[in-house]
Formats: sequence, structure tokens, C-alpha cells
Amino acid sequence: MEQRIIDSIEKIVGKDGYSTKPADLYTYGFDASIFHKTPEIVIQPRSTEEVSEIMKIANREKIPVVARGAGTGLCGSAVPIKGGIVMAMQRMNKVKKVSVADLWVDIEPGINYNDLNEVLAKYGFFFPPAPGSAEACHIGGMVALNASGMKAVKYGATRDYVLGLTFVKADGEIVRAGTRTVKDASGYQLARLMCGSEGTLGIITEITLKLTTKPKKSAYCLCAFNNIHDAGSCIAALIAKPMIPASCEMMDSISIKAVNKARGNPLPACEALCIFEADGETDEVVSRDLKIIEEIAKSTGAISVTPSYDQKQIDAWTDARKSILAALSALMPGYTSVSLADDMGVPISKVPAAVKAFQDIAAKYDVTIATYGHAGDGNLHTKMLVQPSNADMWERGVKATDEIFDVCIDLGGTVTGEHGVGIAKAPKYMRERASELSSIIAIKKAMDPNNILNPGKLEQWEGSILANLRYPCKEYM
Ligand SMILES: Cc1cc2nc3c(=O)[nH]c(=O)nc-3n(C[C@H](O)[C@H](O)[C@H](O)COP(=O)(O)OP(=O)(O)OC[C@H]3O[C@@H](n4cnc5c(N)ncnc54)[C@H](O)[C@@H]3O)c2cc1C
Repeated sequence: MEQRIIDSIEKIVGKDGYSTKPADLYTYGFDASIFHKTPEIVIQPRSTEEVSEIMKIANREKIPVVARGAGTGLCGSAVPIKGGIVMAMQRMNKVKKVSVADLWVDIEPGINYNDLNEVLAKYGFFFPPAPGSAEACHIGGMVALNASGMKAVKYGATRDYVLGLTFVKADGEIVRAGTRTVKDASGYQLARLMCGSEGTLGIITEITLKLTTKPKKSAYCLCAFNNIHDAGSCIAALIAKPMIPASCEMMDSISIKAVNKARGNPLPACEALCIFEADGETDEVVSRDLKIIEEIAKSTGAISVTPSYDQKQIDAWTDARKSILAALSALMPGYTSVSLADDMGVPISKVPAAVKAFQDIAAKYDVTIATYGHAGDGNLHTKMLVQPSNADMWERGVKATDEIFDVCIDLGGTVTGEHGVGIAKAPKYMRERASELSSIIAIKKAMDPNNILNPGKLEQWEGSILANLRYPCKEYM
């Protein structure tokens, strides 16, 4: 980057507000995906105004800008594949105001999920989506991906809580979108358009979230099965009852083995399991719902059903579930767990068919695929175990991924339930959204005519998704 541009940036954010040190640039070229690309500068703004001034420079000089939260995204959404600026939002991490009477909270985007919930808990509220990355991810990243998680089956995704937000457009204009009212029927919902836009339409600098009360009681039930098909059938039967659990996680035998090996057997050794949560205002409501879960699990083939009201036991199960991604990397020496086909969504009744198809595809391409996820809302995660320098294995992995995505689209689903499109899903996202594509392209052109905001992703992706691989595989370097 030219020194005169760096000098103008320094005038806006100060000497400690940016870095061009090689180690920093290298570090900010990653997120939690399989991709990497080094940017030219990392900027850490402190205010909407600073973001606006930087965007004016970037737009004038046609420099790519990629916003970054905590970098925990799994699809490469925050990887700066065209170089340029990484706008790292971690200094903008304040809770600005909690309005209990009006049911909203105003926050900056760099606040962490758990930190926000700690503040809201003091008022009896919570922000429910509960991603597996809750300890690390930022709300700005969650909004930009429309992230969700374990409790989405009952409480919905991030978008369902965004009343309004402030964002900075590509040309530096500051826009306040949406409202601070619980209801809003006023025309186009720009704030909602920003949810899931993955930093391609603007940089979000303030968010107004709707508050919702935290249930006073909850309990869990772990159900073990002889096969993953029965586990899927149990979930579909429960929802159809109808009974909406507060959370509903499914794990296959590979995920269970990996967690038990890495963490000293916190789970029963079985072929598949579901961990259900029931919540409510009273113990009676919770125990009534837990009984329904137990009955349905038994009637759909559960080999053991273990309810628990004990927080220690519940924490052990939920920690086990959250550790799958890391545990899988320790399962087979020389193999690492990667996000290729990552978080598909299918209609809930199609979960058993989808899981069976994933197993058939893994066998066809001779790859190891673990399946788990927030299956209560049809959101299935798969992780593939690959030898990082084995090009043939990557190629087979990509072919398997393509087929998994096709199966999910054909079942009436989506290539991404919560992790976003980024790079990993881009080719199949274009297939899935074919009929919306010309509108999507028109919106992007209208809001970012110089194409500087997170360019080259989503509908702009071209070529093989292995092009920006972070691993030392010489065929892709
Ligand atoms: C172990 C693990 C478990 C996970 N579990 C879940 C889960 O259960 N549910 C789930 O949904 N996800 C999950 N994820 C994925 C990820 O953590 C979430 O999607 C999270 O919301 C990403 O937030 P982040 O702050 O890390 O965003 P980043 O990865 O930094 O960025 C994500 C996207 O948001 C954009 N962005 C960030 N901040 C802004 C901003 N201020 N303005 C505009 N654009 C912005 C970036 O440009 C990028 O496109 C998991 C990841 C890991 C590693």
C-alpha cells in the first residue's frame, strides 16, 4: 500500500489504530475456515466516524475492505482474498444503552456474545441464539452472517432480534436503518438486508437488538441410539408432536468417538445421540416437556434415555458437544478436521434422509465425514477429516461436498443454515439462489458500485474453492 494512503489512515485512527507489520498482516489473513490471504493493512477503528473516513479513502482509491469480528467464521467470509484493508472491529465493543422499558439494547459490533449475555442477565434478559463459538465470536459477525446456534430451534436466529443498526456504506455515508420499536412495518427493511450480507454491503457500527426474557428453569435429556437414522427420526417425531425443545443437538458415531477420545469419555459410547433441552418458567413445565422427550425417544428406538437437572452433568454434555470441531482433529493422526460441506439446512422431516445421503457420499469418495448439528431446526454440520497436504484427498473432498450440497438443495434445503456463504459455499449458493441472483447482483452494484466491500465472495466467486487454501498443499500454493 502506498505510503501516502497509510499516512491518511494514520491521521484518522492514530499510530496505534493500524498495523502493517508482517506478523499482524499474516495473522489477520485467517478466520476459522480452510482459507488464508494476507491483507495490506489492518485497521482497528474506534467509532462510526473513523470507519466513515476510512471508507471514503478506500472508495476513492478503490481498495478492498473486509470487516472482521473475532475471525471465527468457518467459510472464509472474513478472509481478504483480494488483499487491501482488514477492518478489525474489536475496539468497538461497548454496550451503549439497555432500555428495559422499551425492550432493546444498543451495542457496538465488537462485543462478544457471552459478554453481552452477562450484561443482559442482570436485567433478566438474554440474546438467545447460542452459537458454539459463544466464548469468542462478536455480535457484529453474528449479524453479518445471520448466525444462530443451539437455541435457534425455539428462539430463532440473529436476524430475528435485530430491530435496527447503523452501517457505513462503501462511499463513507453513515446510514441508520430500522427502528427501536418492537414492531416496524415501514417499507424495505434495510437493517434486515444487512443481516447475512457478510460485509459486502456496508460496515456495521452499531446494532439495536430486541430483548427477550430468560426462562427461569431448564433441564436436559441425553438419548442414545443404535444408528443416526433413528436419532433423526426421533427429532422429526418430536417436532411433529408438536414439541419445540429449547435446544436439540445430534451427534454421529465419529463425533462421539472423537469427543470421548479427546475429553475422557463424557458421552456414552453409542452410534448416535441427541441432547435435548426443555426450558420454561416453572419446574412443572420443564419436567412435563422432558417426559414427552423421553417417551418419543423410546418410541423411536432410543437404547438409553438419561434426563438431567444437574448443572454439572449438563455442562459436561454441552461442553462435549461444543468441542466436536477441535476433538475431530485429534481423532486420526495426520488428519485434520475441515469445514468443507459445513452447515447445511434441510426441512426437519428430511434430516434422516439427508444424514443417510451424507454417509453414502462419504463411502463413494472414500472420505471420513462426521455429522452433527442443531438438528432440531434441520441444521446439519459435517466435518471432513483430511490429510492437509494430500491434493487427491482435497479433490475427493470437494466432489463429496458438491454432492452433499446438491442433496440438501434437492431436499428443499440450503447450503448454509447459519455459517454463511463466504468462499466455501459460493458455487452452490449460486445454484441455490439462481432465481434471486440478478436481484442480488443489482443490490450489490447499487450499494457498492466500485466493488470494494469484501469483493470476490458469494455471487462473485469464480474458480475452485481450493484456490486460497491455508494448508501446505503444493498443488494449491
Ligand atoms: C468452534 C466453532 C463453533 C461454531 N458454532 C457456530 C454455531 O453454533 N452457530 C453459528 O452460527 N456459527 C458458529 N460458528 C461460526 C462463527 O463463530 C459464527 O458464525 C460467528 O457469528 C462469526 O462471528 P465473528 O465475530 O467471528 O465473525 P468473523 O468470522 O470475523 O466475520 C464473519 C463475517 O462477518 C463480517 N463482519 C464482521 N463484523 C462485521 C461488521 N461490523 N460489519 C460488517 N460485516 C462484518 C465479516 O466480513 C465476515 O464476512 C462456529 C465457529 C467455531 C470456530
